[in-house]
Amino acid sequence: MKKVLICEDEASIRSFVVVNLQRAGYTVVEAASGEEALQKYEQEPAVQVALLDVMLPGIDGFETCRCLRRMNKDLGIIMLTALSQEAEKVTGLQNGADDYVTKPFSTAELIARVDALYRRVSAAQGPSAYREEIQSGDLILNRRTRSLQVHDRTVELTQVEYQLMECFLQHPGETLGRARLLEAVWGSDYYGDDKIVDVNVRRLRMKLEKDPSNPVYIQTVWGQGYRWNG
Ligand code: CA
Repeated sequence: MKKVLICEDEASIRSFVVVNLQRAGYTVVEAASGEEALQKYEQEPAVQVALLDVMLPGIDGFETCRCLRRMNKDLGIIMLTALSQEAEKVTGLQNGADDYVTKPFSTAELIARVDALYRRVSAAQGPSAYREEIQSGDLILNRRTRSLQVHDRTVELTQVEYQLMECFLQHPGETLGRARLLEAVWGSDYYGDDKIVDVNVRRLRMKLEKDPSNPVYIQTVWGQGYRWNG
């Protein structure tokens, strides 16, 4: 979800910005003061971009910017500056803002700036949120090469075995029922027998476990399914 925080004390400007951001597909969190903005941000950490007016009744936009920046270095911050003076823009950028828009601004200009910053922020967050390698104890699953490293040997996995491993490693310690594994790996339109899950788990155990008849990693939860113990 694309989420923006707007901090502006003038209700008419704030609602104008809110309506236009919503039209552009953003979910908007509103604040009428810097203090409220910080409080709302704590409640809504999924906000990707914050729009901060400079002149506010309590702490000003610059102070709000510094506080938000301390809370999250990756948050996109745009200052709404009332004056078109260079000094104010420079102060904003020194306080950790990414961009500024000078009032009065057009809707098109504001949305273009928000869109551009949103793209930058989500591009920067994207690759780090996706883990290329998932590690569990002595095992490392590489999602790019779709290979599994067990201690210091590489284990060849079939597509199905790889998907099962990925599912287990994404839910360590959680009991995964056969139906859930079946849907995750074979898809919801698979009408075969769920014994196929057991067959593949057995094969995975042969590849991973020191003693496949006494499995350590993939444990059977009787009557329920399987659980990864990393
Ligand atoms: Ca103001």
